[in-house]
Amino acid sequence: MESGGSAVRVLVRCRPLLPREASGATATLRIDRTASTIGVGVPGSSSETRFRFDGVADVTCTQDDVYELGGVGELVGSTVGGYHATIFAYGQTASGKTFTMEGFEYGRDRLHKPIANLRTDPRRLGIIPRALDELFSRVAADAQAGGHARVRLSYFQLYKEQIYDLLSTSTPVDRAPHAGGGGAGRPRRGLRLRWAAGREFYVENLSEYEVHDVDEALELFRIGVAHKAMAETQMNAASSRSHCVLSLSVDSLDGAHGSVTHSGTLSLVDLAGSERQPKGVERSANLVDSVEINRSLFALRKVIVALSAGGARQPHVPYRDSILTKVLKGSLGGSARTLMIACISIADEASEESASTLAYAARAR
Ligand code: ADP
Ligand code: MG
Repeated sequence: MESGGSAVRVLVRCRPLLPREASGATATLRIDRTASTIGVGVPGSSSETRFRFDGVADVTCTQDDVYELGGVGELVGSTVGGYHATIFAYGQTASGKTFTMEGFEYGRDRLHKPIANLRTDPRRLGIIPRALDELFSRVAADAQAGGHARVRLSYFQLYKEQIYDLLSTSTPVDRAPHAGGGGAGRPRRGLRLRWAAGREFYVENLSEYEVHDVDEALELFRIGVAHKAMAETQMNAASSRSHCVLSLSVDSLDGAHGSVTHSGTLSLVDLAGSERQPKGVERSANLVDSVEINRSLFALRKVIVALSAGGARQPHVPYRDSILTKVLKGSLGGSARTLMIACISIADEASEESASTLAYAARAR
């Protein structure tokens, strides 16, 4: 995938029709994987627009292809070298964000299954498990060359500008309310965002685990995914309205003194649905609620556009407008590398939202 020297690289992923999508594919999308372009609107008419991206994954692309097209391996490698990187999936609800990032579907009956089961069909694995695997291969290669790296992992969910730890030991999966016992469960309390010189913005009291190999990391990821499913039941909230951020910090240590020589971070983000009217929010719903649901997404959109407009005269980048952009500040812009995966559905019923995702994604690079 060409980088073009811009702060944000944009890959579009088109998901195929699902069996239930009887209306068929929209007739007005022209997806050209080779040219990395997508045309929308009636061909030859004044409504036709052709957008160019850094990469386009059409409906035939596998999880493997998406990983390659996105240059994810290289991004992961750069974090071992002390760089910051962010990969986020953007798009309307049901466009394939979670499929792209996680690559499997979870549900009540799957909460207790070890993630190792996922390996029975590794083709399904999305960016997160693949990136974890790559990270530890790179760390191992680095160790062979005499390096010492320490990896820490955290995972949180952001809903209505509230931060919820997905790896807190006080919300064990086995005591999920629907698993019996525990009644309605304790309402979850949000964590606070703090700022400190040298540390920038950080989430106070967020669980952070040192992980030594890919299996430990995958197990934590599985627990986080299970907590996410549980939280949705508890809050009666759909995942389409929350953002999930999995973060890995990679500290390279000086072999002799054990001091940190450089640190990189990798943030893997599954964003809330980009549709204007969030799914599950009634028209009668409190306006403040729907503003809060979208605040971080709106702010992230603005930050990305400001970064891509960058060049020598960097405009003001409004990092301080939301929790998400504050948390990601260190891994967006500057020397950090950002990959946006814009997900669209080719279904006719999604054509308006897909066109709006493409228009935004084209502006972001
Ligand atoms: P989102 O997270 O954007 O709301 P999902 O990832 O949950 O969307 O995808 C919606 C549905 O489409 C799911 O049933 C998912 O399994 C399916 N899906 C998404 N992307 C693909 C793909 N590339 N190939 C096959 N099925 C997909
Ligand atoms: Mg999702």
